[in-house]
Amino acid sequence: MKIYMTDSTYRYDIEALAKAIFKTDKLEETRDLDGCGPFLAIIYSSEDYALNMRALWKNEENEISEKHEIVKLLSVDERENKKQVRRRLKHLMVKTILGDESENILPWGILTGIKPSKLVHEMIQIGMKREDIRFKLESEYLISKEKINLVMQVAGLEHDFIYPPDPQKISVYLGIPFCPSKCLYCSFPTKVNAGDEMKKKYVEALAIEIKRYSKEIAPYEIETVYMGGGTPTELSATLLKEVMDVLHGTLDLSKLKEFTVEAGRPDTINEKKLSVLKNSGVDRISINPQTFNNKTLEIVKRGHTSEDVHKVWEMVKPYGFNSINMDLIVGLPGEDIPEMESTMKDVSIIRPDNLTVHTLALKKNAEMRKSSVVKMLPGEKAVANMINIAENGAVSLGMEPYYMYRQKYMLGNMENIGYAKPGKECLYNIQMMNDLQTIIAFGAGVMTKFVSIEENRILRTANYKQAKDYIDSPVEMAERKIRTKKILDNTNI
Ligand code: SF4
Repeated sequence: MKIYMTDSTYRYDIEALAKAIFKTDKLEETRDLDGCGPFLAIIYSSEDYALNMRALWKNEENEISEKHEIVKLLSVDERENKKQVRRRLKHLMVKTILGDESENILPWGILTGIKPSKLVHEMIQIGMKREDIRFKLESEYLISKEKINLVMQVAGLEHDFIYPPDPQKISVYLGIPFCPSKCLYCSFPTKVNAGDEMKKKYVEALAIEIKRYSKEIAPYEIETVYMGGGTPTELSATLLKEVMDVLHGTLDLSKLKEFTVEAGRPDTINEKKLSVLKNSGVDRISINPQTFNNKTLEIVKRGHTSEDVHKVWEMVKPYGFNSINMDLIVGLPGEDIPEMESTMKDVSIIRPDNLTVHTLALKKNAEMRKSSVVKMLPGEKAVANMINIAENGAVSLGMEPYYMYRQKYMLGNMENIGYAKPGKECLYNIQMMNDLQTIIAFGAGVMTKFVSIEENRILRTANYKQAKDYIDSPVEMAERKIRTKKILDNTNI
């Protein structure tokens, strides 16, 4: 698909939406439409406080659709005008290419951002009423009624957890980039079968980074700790205990409201590790089957069976963790409605406190992209039906959707939804999605996010992605954070 734009001002937005509409990440920009096959042209020019916009689309059959609109630029604030133009341009694209079909093909309308509930919170904060928000989501963002209901419900549930934001409270994230095998759909640079020596060195580096940065954290209240990966429980019980000792010995965790560890792969969990977690104050863990169909688990190289998940669940129960989460992926190769129904039957036997339903995202670095199993991926209709089955299953277990996000390359332009029983919502996930709390991250492949509520500003700083690079430079990673924090602190003075 060729794409023509007048200039690059709105390139990112136009391209992101075009990729979602045409379900491709292969767009080729062109300056010459003569003799061109299928193309999309977005042409705009401004005169007298108005922007003249034109969208032209030529399809595979050489049929051309065209729409035109003039947007009056009424605000004195240039940023506000740009926002308005961006929205109108996207609107025009959808109308030109999809017409009345937009609701089926783009359930999230022109929204290309990954955090739909954040948008609703922003509207609530400027005093908009629920009905006005609904109207705006439908008329300006072209979001389907079903998705509006979903995002309104999620935002309603999240609200009291995050407002009013308290700049004194922060969260801490720890990344453990090791896994027992690489899942076919994984795009994270996790290290598979790392030896004991490497894991030991990694934990030592983590301790150095945390200690070097701890002074900066001291004035703040740590509200949640989240240990993710990779698979944190790929560390031995001894190394897990070392990480826990460093955390407790270095940071003040006395005000902690939630401590999560992803024990994602059932093949990494044993009694010793569970004891370490429980004795260290961990109160939320995650065990992630992704699907309960053994054939699919084999295809995606998960390295465990559905029976392993049931066994581990029985092992975990007596430890009395406050909340246990389970992740599922909708849209795995070879799966359709019967497989989803069968998975939900297993979920209803286990009855987790949280159920996170992801829609498969075929990310660029995932091995699956190059594999022949891509041909086994379910179609969009099947994905939508499977999502409904998961939703109905979660609701029948007494759960409600409490957080959500979207990703690039998701099948059917869908979303990931976290369901929870009342009172079992994961606070870290809610904070993470709404960008109202600073999250200090340690380890390889992690991203620290400094939030200034006062300045309405976010600064991010990334650590090295690969474990081997991180092991050599924990002090540098801590100092990166110190420098970024200084930048934000100085703007606040
Ligand atoms: S468990 Fe998660 S991080 Fe590890 S390989 Fe699978 S998808 Fe990637």
